[in-house]
Amino acid sequence: MRLSKNFLPTLKEVPSDALIPSHQLMLRAGMIRPLGAGVYSFLPLGYRLVKKVMEIIRDEMDAIGGQEFHLPALNPLELWEETGRAKAFGDTMFHVKNRPLVLAPTHEEVICFIAKNHIKSYRDLPQIWYQIQTKFRNEPRPRSGVIRGRQFLMKDSYSLDATWDGLDTSYDLHAEAYKKIFTRAGLKFFIVGASSGAMGGSASQEFMIESEAGEDTCAVCDQCGYAANLEVAASHVTNALREGESKPIEEIHTPNVKTIDELKTFLHIEERFLAKSLVYMKEKTPVLILMMGNDQLNESKLLGILGNEARPLQPDELKALTGADGGSIGPIGLNGFTIIADKRLEGANNLISGANKNDYHLKNIDLQRDVNIQGYHDMRTVQPGEPCPTCNQPLRVVNAIELGHIFKLGTKYADALHAYYLDENGKERPIIMGSYGIGVERIIACHIEQSHDKNGIVWSKSLSPFHVHLVLVNSNNEKIVSVAESLYEKFQESLIDVLYDDRSDVSPGFKFKDADLLGMPLQVIVGEKNVSNGKIEIKDRATGKRDILEIGKVVNYVEKWLES
Ligand code: ATP
Ligand code: MG
Repeated sequence: MRLSKNFLPTLKEVPSDALIPSHQLMLRAGMIRPLGAGVYSFLPLGYRLVKKVMEIIRDEMDAIGGQEFHLPALNPLELWEETGRAKAFGDTMFHVKNRPLVLAPTHEEVICFIAKNHIKSYRDLPQIWYQIQTKFRNEPRPRSGVIRGRQFLMKDSYSLDATWDGLDTSYDLHAEAYKKIFTRAGLKFFIVGASSGAMGGSASQEFMIESEAGEDTCAVCDQCGYAANLEVAASHVTNALREGESKPIEEIHTPNVKTIDELKTFLHIEERFLAKSLVYMKEKTPVLILMMGNDQLNESKLLGILGNEARPLQPDELKALTGADGGSIGPIGLNGFTIIADKRLEGANNLISGANKNDYHLKNIDLQRDVNIQGYHDMRTVQPGEPCPTCNQPLRVVNAIELGHIFKLGTKYADALHAYYLDENGKERPIIMGSYGIGVERIIACHIEQSHDKNGIVWSKSLSPFHVHLVLVNSNNEKIVSVAESLYEKFQESLIDVLYDDRSDVSPGFKFKDADLLGMPLQVIVGEKNVSNGKIEIKDRATGKRDILEIGKVVNYVEKWLES
């Protein structure tokens, strides 16, 4: 591709509204342009990358037996009401005005609708159906470029199985395909156990890259490789203890003491003796949640226990139900409450908690003796430095970006839409589904997040839009023009993708800056001094290392590099 004839508008300045490197560099490298909040046009260079990513994905999906579909983005609202997801997605789903239609944020419903009409027998199963298609989500504050768009491309696939073992197989096939896809895309990724969110279902894993630009948070162990989304991460912290003999409960006056830290200082006591209370409403029942000391309640773990509809109580509701304000609530003397506690408090005694009376606490609470605990659950958020649950080494808590997500959905969608098949005994059973997504543009942006320097992008060999950036340094010199032109032809004959900077109206310095910004792995520089000695300079974009070669050896050098 010749830069003199093609549309590749690079920018010298960093656009002020782009905050993260991938967003800045995709704008500067002429890959994308914004059209509205979270909506981007892909220009030819950007779309070339999109096509590369899609090719890698198609390859690996076809290799596990995936069959490619193309499903409509415009969906009847009714279908989404049948599964209850019109409500679950809420404002995130775009609705069409004046028509009962929505723009699909994902495609479980449509897949299940097709399966319901055409999968009749266990002999029709298993199936892996996929597509690469535009999704629409009204993301609240899209500000990370194409990492979070309101319109984006997703590879979404769905497995349909007759048995739970079959689902395991389909899921594992996807996990392997995903590893290959992200490796081929040149990404350093890790896999975490995750919570299933609005999708429903049981097992799910996310493929992540560590990045400061990430909106997800994960606990990772560099020692043994344990990694989990903070929504589900665990650590090996010690429990509050059951020790000594349980003394009778006593009321203590704690004027103006509201927080756990204030209580610790006021009573000169270790945190493990303090139980903090939080109250949520599940349907019409208030639920008191006991946490040890300053442990942070993890809402996503909690909602996994109480259901997604549960909500924290407002201060006035709290006062009406307990007689006290936030800092003085406790598990003793409540009526009509369900009480659950964090695992760390299991069976503990001699605890201090609120007295349900402002400015008072109770001491010597024995959870076994005094409280009807309806379940101990892991409900805390892991903190940096806590011991890894598998090897006890300190965990790091890092920001991360999700590249892909695989879910074992089970029969949720088949049940809702009545997608049944007949088993060997002629008995009707719901189809067992899995769902698997990858963000196409996210792969590109994440590659840039992981691979750039102050001068621009550094593409990996496998993802790079071109293998070689051929720079004609001075187009006034006929000799070097003819050398560059002939190299351009030879690269094309050898099927080497080459971006050729043959522009006559920009300075050499400008061309070198653009070459670094655009980030092709090899720069082949055709300049006066070297050419007059029969030589060409090749620069490795990643290392900056320069080699001087005889002109006749350049193509072969690039071919060797491509094979290596
Ligand atoms: P996130 O937590 O980042 O919002 P998600 O859990 O909503 O992601 P899924 O519904 O599992 O994502 O979608 C599958 C994949 O689609 C994600 O792993 C991600 O790569 C991509 N994706 C999701 N939302 C967006 C978006 N708004 N813009 C670009 N890609 C997205
Ligand atoms: Mg999302």
